[in-house]
Amino acid sequence: MSTELRPSRVPHHRNGMRVSFEFFPPKTEEMEKTLWESVTRLAPLSPAFVSVTYGAGGSTRERTHATVKRILDETGLTPAAHLTCVAATREEVDDVVRGYVAAGVRHIVALRGDPVGGIGTPYAPHPGGYVNAADLCGGIKRLAAAEKVEIEVSVSAYPERHPESPSDEADIDMLARKVDAGATRAITQFFFDNDLYFRYLDKVRARGISLPIVPGILPVQNFKLAQSFAAKAGASIPSWLADRFAGLDDDPATRKLIAAAVAAEQVFDLVDRGVTEFHFYTMNRADLVYAICHLLGLRPIGASAPAATAAAEAVA
Ligand code: FAD
Repeated sequence: MSTELRPSRVPHHRNGMRVSFEFFPPKTEEMEKTLWESVTRLAPLSPAFVSVTYGAGGSTRERTHATVKRILDETGLTPAAHLTCVAATREEVDDVVRGYVAAGVRHIVALRGDPVGGIGTPYAPHPGGYVNAADLCGGIKRLAAAEKVEIEVSVSAYPERHPESPSDEADIDMLARKVDAGATRAITQFFFDNDLYFRYLDKVRARGISLPIVPGILPVQNFKLAQSFAAKAGASIPSWLADRFAGLDDDPATRKLIAAAVAAEQVFDLVDRGVTEFHFYTMNRADLVYAICHLLGLRPIGASAPAATAAAEAVA
């Protein structure tokens, strides 16, 4: 058996990999501490951007803003602020956009948000609000033009179709409308079966949509929680994944090792099939994501280059 590493698995350079990390705004001081420890640990990997989620109906409006502002003030990272339009007037949403712009944000992840009554209940746009994510993208682009700034707009994509979509076609139509309104990147809902992602990509490309569809990767820090997220998000949990975590409820150390193995397997398969950009749902925890990025060849900036130079000098 050959022990030679495949080129995509050679870990000593970035291999052109581009990653981004998603965080949520902390609710308590303790959560704030965990978040900043994670941001600090992941920052040297030089992500393309780090995104901060926005609570349904603006429930985290201030906390999202404060987190994004701190990222801008205290790190060299590029933040992307999430924004939803559910349960808000256009004026309220526009105010949030203006606040982001004034703080220095130049990338917004534009989302409709979940229905006010909860997932599974019908969605009703606010009477004076943006009607959906495409409408919101257009609004952000118009505001950016009025403020004379460039704002990059990313949006969601659903390899397994959004739970409210009547069909794959309706789902991809909405993506097309978001692109027409100015979105330049889509980030997917998490998935565990890579074939679902590639089948979705084929359909999107066949529809003539060419924007990057960045896979959203959820390292499974807690299988039960992942199961509950998946049920709400309409993402499937393959039986092989459940099998891998079966019987480990009281064994966090093994669970963590399995989680790293599962995520590495998923990411390497995507790399082998041509993917070079990943968005990680960090759940504000750095360890697993850091390890996967290390496997992808990402190193803290400043650490790998001098070491490589020193090694080359030693050989010379
Ligand atoms: P859209 O892109 O507008 O719609 C998604 C699909 O649902 C469409 O394809 C369309 O076919 C269908 N659809 C939409 N409206 C209707 C309707 N009225 N009737 C029938 N079908 C309809 N949520 C948050 O609250 N805060 C966040 O920060 C956040 N970040 C996210 C980041 C990513 C990368 C992803 C994938 C999701 C995120 N979400 C977030 C969740 C998101 O708000 C929900 O999935 C929401 O239900 C849909 O928002 P959207 O922008 O994806 O919707």
